[in-house]
Amino acid sequence: MKSVCGYCGVGCGIEIHNGTLKGDRTYPVSKGLLCAKGASSLSSVNTDARLLHSQSRLTLHDDFSAIEWSTAIDMIAEKITATTADRVGLYLSGQLLSEDYYVANKLGKGFIGTNNVDTNSRMCMSSAVVAHKKAFGADYVPVRMDDIEHCNLLILVGSNAAEAHVVLSNKIKKAKKKGLKVVVIDPRETMTAEYADLYLPIRPGSDIDFFNLVAGHLIQEGMADLDYIDAHVNGYERYAEAIGKLPASELLTRCGIAPEKFEAFMTLFGSSENIITAWTMGINQSVQGVEKNLSIINMHLISGKINKAGNGPFSLTGQPNAMGGREVGGLSTMLAVHLDFDEASIAKVSDFWGTENIDNRAGLSAFEMVEAAERGELDLLIISHTDPIYHLPNRNRVEAAFKKIPFIIEINAYDDSETKPFSHLRLPAAPWGEKEGIQTNMDRTITRQEKLVETSGEAKPDWEIFSMIGRKLGFQEAFAYKNAAEIFEEFKAMTKLSKEAHLDIYRVDQQRLKTEPYVWGENLFGENRFLTANGKANLHMVESKNESEQRSPHFPFILLTGRIRDQWHSGTKTGLIEKLKKHKPDSFVEINSSDAASLHIQDGEHVEVSTLRGRVTLPAKVTDNIREKTIFIPVTERQVNYLTNDLLDPLSKEPDFNHAAATISKSGDQ
Ligand code: SF4
Repeated sequence: MKSVCGYCGVGCGIEIHNGTLKGDRTYPVSKGLLCAKGASSLSSVNTDARLLHSQSRLTLHDDFSAIEWSTAIDMIAEKITATTADRVGLYLSGQLLSEDYYVANKLGKGFIGTNNVDTNSRMCMSSAVVAHKKAFGADYVPVRMDDIEHCNLLILVGSNAAEAHVVLSNKIKKAKKKGLKVVVIDPRETMTAEYADLYLPIRPGSDIDFFNLVAGHLIQEGMADLDYIDAHVNGYERYAEAIGKLPASELLTRCGIAPEKFEAFMTLFGSSENIITAWTMGINQSVQGVEKNLSIINMHLISGKINKAGNGPFSLTGQPNAMGGREVGGLSTMLAVHLDFDEASIAKVSDFWGTENIDNRAGLSAFEMVEAAERGELDLLIISHTDPIYHLPNRNRVEAAFKKIPFIIEINAYDDSETKPFSHLRLPAAPWGEKEGIQTNMDRTITRQEKLVETSGEAKPDWEIFSMIGRKLGFQEAFAYKNAAEIFEEFKAMTKLSKEAHLDIYRVDQQRLKTEPYVWGENLFGENRFLTANGKANLHMVESKNESEQRSPHFPFILLTGRIRDQWHSGTKTGLIEKLKKHKPDSFVEINSSDAASLHIQDGEHVEVSTLRGRVTLPAKVTDNIREKTIFIPVTERQVNYLTNDLLDPLSKEPDFNHAAATISKSGDQ
């Protein structure tokens, strides 16, 4: 049986023979490759750590007791009916399959009538979504993974692919053997930087300065592709004029990069026919996340390095089905199938779903739901396949806000969540391996996840749980689904409503999908026609605004966060598998050796890390692979978000996870 890995956005193909899992050599994205997480996927399903039965309690001080499915669904319907739609929230996950996502979105936006339907993908790639729409007129990733094989220069910025996207990283290393040059731009000299031809240890937060500097250089040295710009790009004159006014030497100083290193970068750029820039959380998770994305896209547009094999800006998604969530409309700022909340879109979707309940205001994004809870404006929150208390920034604030929500429902496959102490009702969901459905990886490849083992306990797929709630609320016909295939057929038909039907998932043949993945939107920008009003891509002048928290005498370090290899998020699944723990400890704070020396901190010694928002104690990892006055804590450390900042990008509402001013000291010194 063939299926697909459910951990990261690479989406590697797997096959199972006689209970043994291995990489599927015929699968085009990964060609048989798997990382340690993917290879151990089956071990994560049958575990004692599962939530297998529904449980409820009256108050957060009570113990949970068992409850029947029917009673639980009655209780949810009663609570929803007893309040108004705008006081209801749904918080979904990039771990959901598209069918789960579709039904949850239809229930929330279409029938309950709340657009407060958001997803944890808000935390990772919503900045890229907004930037794509602003530049291209649609949320579209114009690069495929195989483009790396046609590329001469790969620029990785804010991405530690060697640990976060292991199989993609292996493809990069393979392409290097055929001549690909790699530049890594990161304040940490990561495992990815180890194989870079050029490593640029940029100052945290100076990404826009860097890409503006490159753009200025391209324009000044006559390296801009004026023919391409003339035919396919809007706003060049204004952009070039604004870029020309930026003080180049000041930008370089702000980036903290030696002039000869920048020259080496420009030499590589100038001598490379085909260039891809790939990024992830180091760019997206920022108070200027959208503008950082745009600064990269601008560079590709003015150099004409886009829409041809081996070229383009490539946003790497973190979760397995983050892209699928965007397709169905899992973000509160979009309605469905890439449509917004304009009158025409609402009319089309209302007609398709047979409802009159759709609100025309964008809903609350993830952290805005926290703010609404603080104000006492959220009565009920349904959380599905994710752990917001663990992953939202400024955890002390989130915990206090969640305590104010009268009814929290947690739909989860695993028992050990940080959100559990804040939940009133917990419902067991089927995880990867126990259900079937569709997921879309980072390069628009749609694949079927297969049901590989029997569903455990009383767990159900999420689509079934949301359908039960819908029917109990009286929407019998709209939620009469019998299986995932039926839901996917409906979703497919709906994609015809997308702008110019660009989301051409309606072409998918489910039967064929069992053996062959489908890539939506192939050649969407063929002939370089973008989905903007005049068919040209838009340049947006952006400048670094220094809006992130700045170092101060009390908080002289900048805290960065990120993944480590072999572990996934909070380690609910991977943390249980012994062999995955061998690569690296899952909890530490990395500090530069000269900073450690001046603070008398020894390697392995426990230290306290504090920000304005909280304090944690962790073992120190002393290293030369991080810039001075910069520290790093992996997201596998479950306490990390007591420290992080809840500043939001004003457009994408993605938090500034990667730029908190912090202090570090030997335990007991403070
Ligand atoms: Fe799974 Fe990602 Fe590893 Fe591939 S690279 S096996 S998708 S975790």
